[in-house]
Amino acid sequence: MIVDVPDCLFCGIVAGQIPAQIVLDGKRTLAFRDISPQAPTHVLVIPRDHYPDVAALAAAGDGLLDELVSRAREVAVSEGIDGTGYRIVFNTGADGGQTVAHAHAHVLGGRSLTWPPG
Ligand code: AMP
Ligand code: ZN
Repeated sequence: MIVDVPDCLFCGIVAGQIPAQIVLDGKRTLAFRDISPQAPTHVLVIPRDHYPDVAALAAAGDGLLDELVSRAREVAVSEGIDGTGYRIVFNTGADGGQTVAHAHAHVLGGRSLTWPPG
């Protein structure tokens, strides 16, 4: 069966048309490993539905953003980095460094992360 998905990389992952290393598979969210990890743990948590960025996700106001952050915490626990600490990042727009226009939280940890970002 051919499933039509928007021209979006992460919608393709949700649809199973693009392979990904799934970490958590939820009803409204999906977590998978970043293809280019920047830390020992680098997982992306996304809503299954398409929102262009975190601001659009917040504007939807149906608890999905809360759920996304809860899932990010679950990832941190399952990756064993909740004790040592981690960073949840939503790059937003061009200056924010967003390269994929489907809202996603980066969960980064497993090493000491520097601040400020570049
Ligand atoms: P951002 O730059 O904040 O929009 O984050 C997009 C992230 O998606 C980057 O960290 C990429 O490494 C990651 N990425 C790109 N393509 C894939 C893919 N096919 N599977 C998993 N992660 C990906
Ligand atoms: Zn999408």
